[in-house]
Amino acid sequence: MKLYSTLRSFLSEKNKGALTKILIESGLKPRINKRARSPFDKGIIVFSADFEMAWAFRFSRTRRHEAVEKGLAERKNVPILLDLFDKYNIPVTWATVGHLFLNECRRGPGGLPHPEMPRPDYFKNRNWNFSSGDWYQHDPCTDYNTDPAWYASDLVDLIIRSDVKHEMGCHTFSHLDFTYKNCPRPLADAELDACIKAASVRGVRLQSMVFPGGTAGNYESLAERGFTCYRQPMKNHIDLPYIDSHGLVVLPSSLGLDKDPYGWDREFHLQMIRKYLDKTAKHKQVCHFWFHPSMDGWYLENVMPEVLKMVADYAGSSKIEVKTMCQLAELVISNR
Ligand SMILES: [Zn+2]
Ligand SMILES: [Zn+2]
Repeated sequence: MKLYSTLRSFLSEKNKGALTKILIESGLKPRINKRARSPFDKGIIVFSADFEMAWAFRFSRTRRHEAVEKGLAERKNVPILLDLFDKYNIPVTWATVGHLFLNECRRGPGGLPHPEMPRPDYFKNRNWNFSSGDWYQHDPCTDYNTDPAWYASDLVDLIIRSDVKHEMGCHTFSHLDFTYKNCPRPLADAELDACIKAASVRGVRLQSMVFPGGTAGNYESLAERGFTCYRQPMKNHIDLPYIDSHGLVVLPSSLGLDKDPYGWDREFHLQMIRKYLDKTAKHKQVCHFWFHPSMDGWYLENVMPEVLKMVADYAGSSKIEVKTMCQLAELVISNR
């Protein structure tokens, strides 16, 4: 594996795409867990969405100027995605930035947004660079009509009221780096408490965590607040969940659903998804698809409906079932 990632890092984008294509076509990818016996009686598919709007991009090293544009794309796509998931009766875990649960927010005395919230120190990581100003400097402190890229209580309500029983999960309150290094314990606690409070106004109890940009950490804060699981890449694309030393269920992260940077066509995307589904069913393991609702319009229109149709057909044949993150965590805990 180490050798493979080292080799891969020397390839150009185009060659990376070609290599992945060869691995998929030859059946080497996706990898399954060959060591453990599955405790499940069929394959399990999970869908999770990183629902974050403009919050995810404001400190991006390369795309900060796109923050509002991305937020608005997400706003446009969410109802389309909900209709699709409704059509195929597939539930999703919407890992939602806590601020999106709000209708509005107002400046505190002195003009500071969210004076009640602690701030991270300046930091840089793989994706973000926070090196000047205040952590909440982009927060417009208005409402969802005035600045629709920063608030989404209306979309949250749309998700909650869907015929399909979706799960609302957590993606921190302000989309920050949640690692121990860049997020001290009091900040992690305050972020989670703010999410729990905002979600409870809409009758939602949060149980599942998706770390922003994969910045995993502060597991103690999660366990203490009744969270049961989180998503994390594992050794294999299709793998088996396990319980970590904090009692939290770790769920694999298998494949991000979106247009690729390599120019793959629709047929190849569908062929790849088919391979994931076939192996998940055959080995009765877990395949966790995740996506950003701001996904590319071509993919949303041409690939996503077929992906959901394939999953629904498979589920109909009883070889796989679809679960939300918290449903799968409950199953793992009850099997223990
Ligand atoms: Zn705010
Ligand atoms: Zn995110």
